[in-house]
Amino acid sequence: MLSYDEILAHLTEPSGDRLERLRRRADALRRERVGDVVYLRGLIELSNHCRRNCLYCGVRAGRRGIARYRMTIDEVLQAASLAKRFGYGTVVLQAGEDAGLSDETIAEIIAAIKQKFSLIVTLSLGERPDSAFLRWKEAGADRYLMRLETSNRRLFEAIHPSGGGDGGVAKTTDRVAMLGRLRQMGYQIGSGVMIGIPGQTTEDLARDLMLFSELRLDMVGSGPYLPHSDTPLGKAAEALALPQDDPRRAALLRQAGWRYPEADRQVVPSNEMAFAMIALTRLLLPGANIPSTTAIATLDGQHGRAMGLRSGANVVMPNLTPTKYRALYEIYPNKAATLETPDQTHAAAIRQIRDAGLIPESDRA
Ligand code: SF4
Repeated sequence: MLSYDEILAHLTEPSGDRLERLRRRADALRRERVGDVVYLRGLIELSNHCRRNCLYCGVRAGRRGIARYRMTIDEVLQAASLAKRFGYGTVVLQAGEDAGLSDETIAEIIAAIKQKFSLIVTLSLGERPDSAFLRWKEAGADRYLMRLETSNRRLFEAIHPSGGGDGGVAKTTDRVAMLGRLRQMGYQIGSGVMIGIPGQTTEDLARDLMLFSELRLDMVGSGPYLPHSDTPLGKAAEALALPQDDPRRAALLRQAGWRYPEADRQVVPSNEMAFAMIALTRLLLPGANIPSTTAIATLDGQHGRAMGLRSGANVVMPNLTPTKYRALYEIYPNKAATLETPDQTHAAAIRQIRDAGLIPESDRA
C-alpha cells in the first residue's frame, strides 16, 4: 500500500524516467489483476439541460447561446442498440441535472435497455434524491458514477456555487456520503476528479487518491481540467495566466467571480499528471475499472488514449450519442470525437486499444 508521502513524491514531478517506471509498474499490475481485455462502455449523453451552475462547465444553466437538447426514449434505445451491435458490455447514461428527465422516464429507459439488450447500465446523472436512486436500482441499473471533482471541500464549494438556473438548488451536498448510500443500495460506485483546477495542489490530488482507496471505489475516472472560455472558471484561468503585477489580473478575476484565495497554486493540467494519477489509482485499487478518459484523448488525439491504457487503465468509453447532439454536450471545448459518427468513434477506440497492445472487449463478444 502506498503512503501519502510516496504518492505526493510521484505527483510532484510526473515526468521522465520516474513517470515511466511508475507507469510500467501500474501496467504490470493491470495485466496481473484485470488482464489485457479493455472494457468498452458506450457513452450516451441524454440531455444538455442542467439546473446547476458549476463554474467550469460549458452546459451550466447560466450559459446563454447554446441550443439545449434532450434525447427521446427511442433515440436512447437506438444508441444502446449500437452498443450491443459493437459488442460492448455496458452503456453509460449521462446528463446534466435535468428536471425534464423525470425519475420515471429514466426508469423506463433503464428497464427497456435491460429487457431488449441485456447490457449493464451505468448512470451518471448528478445529484438526485435517494428515492430516484432506489427507483432506478429497482428498474435494473447496476452502477452509479458520481465525480467528486476534488476532495478539497473549500475548492469544491468555490467551483460549485449554490443556486442554479431555477434558483432552487441547495448548497453543495456531501458526495462522499452519497456514494456510501449508493453502495448500500446495491450499486457499484465510481468517482473521479479533475486535474489542474486553478487553486488545486499536488497535496489535494494526493488526498483525492487516498480517498478513492478509502472508499474502495469500483471505478475511478480522472482527467485534466480543460478550461472553457465561456465559463467563469475559464475566464479566471485566463486571468491567472497573466503576470502577478498585471493590473488587469485582479479586475478580470473579480469579474469572473473567482475568489479562491490560493488561486495561484495550481498543478499543471497535463496528460503526464493524468497518467501519474491513473497509475497511482491502479496501485491503490488493483482491481478497479479505470478509464482512459475523453479529456486525455482531447489533449492528445493521437496517443493520449493508448498512453492512458499503458499507464494502468482498462476501460474506454466510446461516445454513442447521435452526432447531431454531440457538439452541444460541450462540457469543455474541442471534446474528442465531436464530429464523428458512432461507427467512426467505435473504429477509433478499437484502433487505439490495439495500438496499446491490448484486446478490445468486443473481440471476445
Ligand atoms: S458539471 Fe454537471 S452538474 Fe455541473 S453544470 Fe455541468 S452538467 Fe451540470
